[in-house]
Amino acid sequence: MSFVQKYLAEAGQVVERLDPIAIDAVVDLLADTRTRGGRLFILGVGGSAANASHAVNDFRKLAGIEAYAPTDNVSELTARTNDEGWASVFEGWLRVSRLGPGDLVLVFSVGGGNAEKNVSPNLVAALQYAKGRGTRIAGVVGRDGGYTAQVANACPVNPRPRTAAFLDRDGVLNRAIVRNGRPYPPSTLAELQILPDAPSALQALKAAGFLLIGVTNQPDVARGTQRREVVDAINAALLAALPLDDMLVCYHDDGDACDCRKPRPGLLIRAATRHGIDLASSFMIGDRWKDVEAGRRAGCAAILIDHGYAESGLDGCSPDGAVRSLSEAAAWILNRIGRGKGTP
Ligand SMILES: [Mg+2]
Ligand SMILES: [Zn+2]
Repeated sequence: MSFVQKYLAEAGQVVERLDPIAIDAVVDLLADTRTRGGRLFILGVGGSAANASHAVNDFRKLAGIEAYAPTDNVSELTARTNDEGWASVFEGWLRVSRLGPGDLVLVFSVGGGNAEKNVSPNLVAALQYAKGRGTRIAGVVGRDGGYTAQVANACPVNPRPRTAAFLDRDGVLNRAIVRNGRPYPPSTLAELQILPDAPSALQALKAAGFLLIGVTNQPDVARGTQRREVVDAINAALLAALPLDDMLVCYHDDGDACDCRKPRPGLLIRAATRHGIDLASSFMIGDRWKDVEAGRRAGCAAILIDHGYAESGLDGCSPDGAVRSLSEAAAWILNRIGRGKGTP
């Protein structure tokens, strides 16, 4: 996946997960402010100051609301910063405008302000002043929303993308049936044996905040040597026994030229769209080169559980990590994200 493809996919995920009810609540506040003849004050720092300026134009010219952004007057902004300090520039500016209950303060901010962490303290001071005046507050924020989300009357929070551990099935979650050194899936539900370290390894990843998504090639369905119902029954048993969030299956063979048969990354990309996953901060765990390659093509870090199979392809693949078991793979990931108990 190219950077642009990834960027667009992630942008689509963010839009899909926006909360329309929270956005409607902001619209209601804006409409009410206009009805009451109140004024709209838009606060933002950095890129959000530019958005504030643009929004002032649109709300005045297109929506007929009397709107201002304190950052639009460079003289006052710099004079206040110089004389009174950055932390109080918005509050000082709003005091001169004598905020009232009919007005609305709208914040554009990624962090939303946090007094303890000294993140955008000028937003925090301005919002405390607004609250004291009975002025209503709206926000459009990211991350956890910060102080803005805590005090706002309406505030959609743009969700942070989630991270996932993608897990191959056979040889990772359950024991692969090995014949002549090569791994095969269990051919019946009775043959399914969950690997003993799978529950605790998955629990550790889940506790660290990872979504757990199975991604498995089951070409025997296309080859006519296995029924889809048996594959689905085995998957259902795994989903019931393990803390997995989802299991995506490719039932095709090479000749089908699908986009989901690993080493193609289609299953991971489909899961990313379905669950709002940031692939670049996610991991793929598998026991064959096709798993490693699918993970890398999706933009994930890839970990190989090396069971020493007699198969070609492993030499040419370059996993980010190579381990001997799922519990070692989980420890490797936790170590990589700084949540480990030491080197696995
Ligand atoms: Mg496997
Ligand atoms: Zn497929």
